[in-house]
Amino acid sequence: MAATPGSLPIRDDLKDLNPYGAPQLDVAVQLNTNENPYGPSEGLQKSIADAVQAVAGTLNRYPDRDAIELRKDLAAYLGHDLTEANTWAANGSNEIIQQLLQAFGGPGRTALGFEPSYAMHPLISLVTCTEWIAGASDADYGLSTAAEQVARHRPSVTFITSPNNPTGTSVPLDIIVDAYDATDGMLVVDEAYAEFKRDGTPSALTLLPGRERLVVCRTMSKAFAAAGTRLGYLAAAPAVPDALLRVRLPYHLSTVTQTVARTALAHTQELLSSVQALRAERDALVAWLRGRGLKAADSDANFVLFGTFEDRHKVWQELLDRSVLIREIGPAGWLRVTVGTPAEMSAFRDALTEVLGQ
Ligand code: PMP
Repeated sequence: MAATPGSLPIRDDLKDLNPYGAPQLDVAVQLNTNENPYGPSEGLQKSIADAVQAVAGTLNRYPDRDAIELRKDLAAYLGHDLTEANTWAANGSNEIIQQLLQAFGGPGRTALGFEPSYAMHPLISLVTCTEWIAGASDADYGLSTAAEQVARHRPSVTFITSPNNPTGTSVPLDIIVDAYDATDGMLVVDEAYAEFKRDGTPSALTLLPGRERLVVCRTMSKAFAAAGTRLGYLAAAPAVPDALLRVRLPYHLSTVTQTVARTALAHTQELLSSVQALRAERDALVAWLRGRGLKAADSDANFVLFGTFEDRHKVWQELLDRSVLIREIGPAGWLRVTVGTPAEMSAFRDALTEVLGQ
């Protein structure tokens, strides 16, 4: 927990702000931050160590400020005829979002998102002095009125999260196109969980050609099993990375980060090999929850929003008492659980069955 600023001359708008973050507790079953539960294999651990050793002798020098080789690798991973000019990388997609808001938001400008969604979008807006507009989603978490809300609020930046966190909902491409056509501002599609989508759910990457104000954000923290590496990235028209050069700190991405991320990308197949199993585990979890008479939102991500509980905090706490940590987040009465290994999911199911007294 952070101490309160006390008598420090901190900005008025930050004084009463609670620092964002899921509890980091040392419990056996951690299903609260949507990480991939499978760590790198011994072979990949060695490749990472070798790659870091190979650059260790250069650490007296600053890193490649523009991360060109990494951006080439990211473009090759994404496909869609993208090149390094279309990509940009930073320390997690949170930093990408921060840079986007620094460049395209800021004082006198607004950002719009459709709640419930990722809590860092409003928080980074606040920190970058961008006024946040809390738009609404449909009762089933769809975004059928997105374009209309965009046209009404005329934001400088609009966020669409697909699949959405915490609901797991994917947004159809026609809704994204309509939202884009309704704004003169930037449209940021946050696809942190893209690799977990069910078959036949296309990515907004397919929409990039001819749309200069469209940005697709991705991360290596989720499917890529590299949350500790801190590597987020975007794909967009070359004018977008060019704009971000104005706000990024020089040398923001360390040599070690660039090296580890490139090594991970060279092992894409291995790192993504768990995705299929995690998707199957997710679908089984949704079915299991519904079979217990609970509600579970359809999910294209590696987590499931479920409920509803009169006292969700009590359920969260009682699961934690059984060494299962999930997330108390989302609309009132709902909880979010990350999809883990079969053993972790079985521990979750056993604990929830006990808690619900079934
Ligand atoms: N976008 C969404 C929708 C997320 O859920 C998260 C992480 N929870 C992020 C972005 C940021 O991830 P990172 O900074 O680790 O790339």
